[in-house]
Amino acid sequence: MDLLGSLGSSSGPDTPECSRKGCRAAAQWQILWNNPKIHNPERRKVWLACQEHRAWLENFLAQRMFWRSTEPMPGTEDEETPR
Ligand SMILES: [Zn+2]
Repeated sequence: MDLLGSLGSSSGPDTPECSRKGCRAAAQWQILWNNPKIHNPERRKVWLACQEHRAWLENFLAQRMFWRSTEPMPGTEDEETPR
């Protein structure tokens, strides 16, 4: 469908993918986290998550007290708008 997508490898710069290992779904959420042992308190690491893995990744981080917040990906409403 997308001719530009055939440049380089499978992941183009405009199609952020879920951070879950092995998942290639388009990211719909940004999960912001911080590991206080190695990061400054104001620093935020970002994981990208698809709808399916958002809860999994949040839970993974929450168990380690790393999770800070989850925000919708900016500018992803061109394909699917569930609401
Ligand atoms: Zn995923």
